[in-house]
Order: sequence, then structure tokens, then C-alpha cells
Amino acid sequence: MFKNRIKKGGLFKTAAAFIVMVTVVIFVSVTGCAGGCSGKKPKTNFTEYKIEAEYDGGFITATETVSFFNDTEEGINELKFNLYPNAFRKDAKYTPVTVEQRPLCYYKGLSYGYISVFAVFTGGEEADFSVEGKDENILIVPLFNTVFPSETVEVTINFKVKLAEVVARTGITEKTVNIANWYPVLCVYDNGFCECEYYSTGDPFYSECADYEVYFTVKNTYAVASSGVTVSSEYDHDKITYGFKAQKARDFAIVMSEEFDCLTETESGVEINYYFYKDASPEKTLKTAKAAIKTFSELFGKYPYKKYDVAETQIFAGGMEYPCLSMIDDNLTEEEREEVVIHETAHQWWYSVVGNDEISYGFLDEGLTEYSVILFYEKNPSYNKSRTDFIKKAMKSYSSYCTVYDKLYGKKDTSMIRKLPEFSSDYEYVNIAYMKGALMHEYLRNTVGEEKFFKGLRKYYSDNMYKTVTPYDYVSVYESLGCRVENFFESWFDGDVIL
Ligand SMILES: [Zn+2]
Repeated sequence: MFKNRIKKGGLFKTAAAFIVMVTVVIFVSVTGCAGGCSGKKPKTNFTEYKIEAEYDGGFITATETVSFFNDTEEGINELKFNLYPNAFRKDAKYTPVTVEQRPLCYYKGLSYGYISVFAVFTGGEEADFSVEGKDENILIVPLFNTVFPSETVEVTINFKVKLAEVVARTGITEKTVNIANWYPVLCVYDNGFCECEYYSTGDPFYSECADYEVYFTVKNTYAVASSGVTVSSEYDHDKITYGFKAQKARDFAIVMSEEFDCLTETESGVEINYYFYKDASPEKTLKTAKAAIKTFSELFGKYPYKKYDVAETQIFAGGMEYPCLSMIDDNLTEEEREEVVIHETAHQWWYSVVGNDEISYGFLDEGLTEYSVILFYEKNPSYNKSRTDFIKKAMKSYSSYCTVYDKLYGKKDTSMIRKLPEFSSDYEYVNIAYMKGALMHEYLRNTVGEEKFFKGLRKYYSDNMYKTVTPYDYVSVYESLGCRVENFFESWFDGDVIL
């Protein structure tokens, strides 16, 4: 996500009924990860999703088959899935849109969405699933047989999603349809299944890379940007079914519109598409996306996918990242758009390929992504933006946060390792995760020197492709290069460092 921006006089905060068949199921309960989900998860075998979905009149009707390979060291008796669309319910406790944001996001008045699960099958038999969690956000599927380590289980879920008319990651906007976090997403198994509630601050997501095969049917008047490579398209009267494949992708999202134009270019074998409807200088935007793919490939390591879509849409925070797909808000100035495109493209490296628990360690991807924007401008002097100016701005913003919080509350919390709900405002989150996050990399660079800093970034990327990491994995990369930085990082993470 892009950092919050000042708009319209204020600092924005970013951003059904269920048939539950309850029967007595005898199984060993797999507990949630109350102690925090923080382990490094090298994947030996990726989960596979096959989804057949049709969008019509604001509803998505779909069948999803998930093939889960148990790469844990435990027997598993149930699977849990995040049901993010339920955050758009009328009575949701954890909402993507805060009360203050409602007038701007609900452009036609309040509107609600949900996900309704109709049936779940495993091993060819109907399973007694339930929808639970803190906010009807978790689908629990008991398995008929324990899945032991290195065994695979297949689960098929029939579901329907209603999209709200709302400017959000998932919703019908005035010109586009944003379809993200829309299907049951297998919870990450990390000392138990990690359940994600939908916080309005930050990106409340934690998922692992998986292989996707998605067949998406829609009226043929829509142009569709997606996380996948198009492998087929079949017309049937006024509808079209696209076949998409995305391998080792952390999520699968779509942005579509009946008003999209599209420009395409290729960079180092990557097809880059820009879908737009309002941008007055689309060639410039595409050029920036192309330059960002090139610059970051050179700095960190090759962009590993064949395609990258950038979609103009309405998105409250300014931008939002998904694998091979970035959402860019249509209400940005040209200068803002440039920066947002660079930021979201950097997320392809930090979040998409190298992933992290974004609820526990939001600063890990946001801080490095923000610093990557600075690196982009440094490596592309024709854009006329200086590293020094960015650092000054970040320092000013962070210092101002410290002063404001001291005055308002008599204290400030400068610790970086905090879960999203532990931030008292978006203002605090932006200054800790983005500003202080970016400053940490600048100070690291000055501490370890140019050569080791960039060598470390490349190693961090290559060692952790398609995995989920913790802040300590970043520390250990530099330790392995002979940099004694453990204390350096501890003081940043704990908040002891004085800037
Ligand atoms: Zn971001």
C-alpha cells in the first residue's frame, strides 16, 4: 500500500447469511497462533488453487479447489481459510473503512458485501464446515482423515461473494471493479493457523505463495487486469471466460473496467500493461513502471514473472500492491502517480516475492519499499529527485510525529515490531512503518557501506524468494556478510534509537 496522503483537508486513514451445518466433529483442535506468527516458512511444495468464477451484477459465484501439501511437522485435522469479504458486512466488527472515511468511500451511500459459503467437499464427501473467527472471518473445514507431514489433501469450496459499492481493495468503484482478497485464502500454518482480522490500518494480510489456475467469466465488454498470465479466452455470446495462471504468487487479484484502454511495453522479457481511463499522460506512467521493473531487477535481482499489470482505479490509499498487479488511484497528481507507481512496483520484490506477515511486521515490506523509491530516483537522475531530499522529508515527518505524540499523550512509542491493532492511528503507522522504516535502511547503508548494503539486499532477495520472512532474517543476511549489526537493528526495532 502507498503511504497515506493528505487529501481534502485531512490525513486519510488508508486504506449474509451463512448456512452453517453444525455437527459433532471429533478431531484434535489445531490452535491458533496466539504467540504470534513469526516463523520463517521455507516452502517445499506450493498450495494449488483452481478457481472457476463468474462475475455478474455485483456478485461472484465460484468454485475453488485447494490442494494443500502438509509441509509442517504436525498432523493436521482441519484447514482454516480467511474470508476477507465478510469485513464488508453490515455488522462487521473489523471494517476496511472507518466511520470518518465512509462519506468518501461509499460514493452512493452505505453499501455492504459478504462471502457466503454454500458447500465444502473433501475426498469427494461433503464436509461439515463452519464459519467462525472473531468476525465471521474464518472458514473451518474439518478433515475426515488426519493429513500427515508430506501428505496432500484437496478441498473444494462453493461460494458466492457480493461486492459492495465502495472504494476499497474489494468493491465496485465508479469506473472499475476491484476484486482482491475475494476467495477463501488458506491461513498460513505457523504454530497453528494464523487468522487475519481486517484492520483499517495497514495491509491486514498474511499469505503464502501458491500456484493459481483461475477461470474467470465476465461480460465481454470488460477489460481485465490480473495477477495471472492469460492462457486462454473463450467467447460465449456476450461473455468471455479468461483462463489465468499465476505460479508462486502470494495472492490473486483482478481489476476490471468497461472503460479501460491499455498500453503495453516489454522490459527484459516482462510484458508490462497499463490499464487506464483517466490518466492524461499514460505513456509516461507506463514508462515509469517499465523503468521501475528495470531498476529494481538490476538492484535486487530479476523480476521473476512474465507479466506486470498496472491498473488505474479508485483506491483510497493512493495505491495497493498485489502479485503482478498494482492498483493506482485515479485522483493523483502526475507527480504523486509517478511515486505511487514506483512504490507499488517495488512491492513486487518486497511483499510479493519476499513476503512477510504484514500484520505483525508491516514495516518490513513498507519500509524497504519506501526506501526502494529513494533508490529508484537515485539511479534514475533524469527524474530530478534527490536522495537527500527524501531523507530530509522522512526525518522531518518522523520528528514531527515524535513531537506531536509527546505533546498529545505525554509519550510516544517508537518501537517498530508491533501488530497493526497496536497502532493508535494511521498517522502513527505511517511514521513508524514507512518513514522510520525507510530511515533504518539509510542508516544501515551508512553503517555497513555501499558494497555490503547492496550485496545484502540482493542476498535477502535471492535467499528468500517465495518465502515468508521475519525482521530477523534481514538482520541475519547482514550478519552473514560480516556486518556486526545485531545491536543496530535491535535499537531500531525496540525504538531506542535516537534520530
Ligand atoms: Zn506500500
